[in-house]
Amino acid sequence: MDIPFDAWLPRQRWYAGRGRTLSAAKPVLTVPLRDDLYLVLLDATYIDGTVERYQVIMGVGQHPGHAGAAISSYDGRTAYDGLFDADAARYLLQLIDDATTVGPVEFAKEPGARLPLDAPPRVSTAEQSNTSVVFGRDAMLKVFRRVTAGVHPDIELNRALARAGNEHVARLLGSIETRWGGEPCALGVVSEFAADSVEGWHMATTGDSDFTDESRLLGAAVASVHTCLADVLGTDSVQFPVDVMVDRLTTATQAVPELYDYAPRIKQRYRDLSGRQITVQRVHGDLHLGQVLRTPQRWLLIDFEGEPGKPLPQRRRPDSAVRDVAGMMRSFDYAAYQRPGVAAQAWADRNVAAFCDGYAAESGADPRDSADLLAAYELDKAVYEAAYEARHRPDWLSIPMGSIDRLLR
Ligand code: ATP
Ligand code: MG
Repeated sequence: MDIPFDAWLPRQRWYAGRGRTLSAAKPVLTVPLRDDLYLVLLDATYIDGTVERYQVIMGVGQHPGHAGAAISSYDGRTAYDGLFDADAARYLLQLIDDATTVGPVEFAKEPGARLPLDAPPRVSTAEQSNTSVVFGRDAMLKVFRRVTAGVHPDIELNRALARAGNEHVARLLGSIETRWGGEPCALGVVSEFAADSVEGWHMATTGDSDFTDESRLLGAAVASVHTCLADVLGTDSVQFPVDVMVDRLTTATQAVPELYDYAPRIKQRYRDLSGRQITVQRVHGDLHLGQVLRTPQRWLLIDFEGEPGKPLPQRRRPDSAVRDVAGMMRSFDYAAYQRPGVAAQAWADRNVAAFCDGYAAESGADPRDSADLLAAYELDKAVYEAAYEARHRPDWLSIPMGSIDRLLR
């Protein structure tokens, strides 16, 4: 079977090649899961020489009816995106439940996990870079679209947190993995689905304007995850990474002229910390209000993939827990500007304070006690945001620039 993926791939929401020209999309691995269902890894090659590997769960036979799912027709049959076929989706869950190995693909179930094998599957409509299938109200299977070799932090950290019994994550139930070049390679993850949950960003920007009780609980949830990760995966002591931050600043300043006048003072703030020993541990790495869910019971942290643009080994490198705290602070800042009629700075300050109160009460360590370190991580994040906004949303550039100005005062 020779399926032409080239026409279908660029039309998918999760395709990362926009702006480049695709020269070929060829399967490098085709694993038959059933006689009408295949796990396919494709290499997309671009004319600029870059290559990306993508995953497609491919069904053949009767088209499941979803527009856009059809890949192509051949020999009188249709090849389609199998995740849109309820029966195929359920079969994937069954393979995980059975902890089956099919060729080079390992389906694994977490100890004690119960999978909702009879629940009706539906593909999530969330705007995302992977594809998730939700089973009833109980479980969510996220199939990674772009696959890379190496230990996947989302599986690794969720596994550690679930096994330690931490309540502030969507409990990991199972995974799909293979190997690539002698390394593990994550293909999918199934976790508990938080039914009736609201995304933190949505709640902070549209809910009751007094969000401080929630911010306090959120601070405690983040602290609980940090404490648990430190207990289970350990801590280390390293020198504050001045050079890494200066490099990021230099690259950003080349792209954003607005940063130019601020750069020497930002650099000085980093240099003031040079030689400082800081404690590092595994962290979330890309924490903001869009990565937390409020269930009727508690806050959950989701998506432990780290900053998507960075290579896997860098994303897994231990970092200061202050990195995550600073990420949340920057997110409160952004959220404040989405609330018409609210004094933005005062709203952000109140919620940052409540978050730190909650964090300190849970962990015994108040992030505000290391104010210079916290400010450095906030500056690092704001510089990254400035580069992002200048490129993608110039109307938003004033938000990180305003924060940089304030942080330097
Ligand atoms: P992105 O490209 O935006 O990072 P992603 O493919 O990595 O997306 P996630 O960020 O893990 O996917 O999840 C996308 C959305 O799905 C979340 O914003 C959230 O609304 C919802 N979601 C994720 N995990 C769960 C869960 N366990 N329970 C309920 N909803 C969830
Ligand atoms: Mg993600």
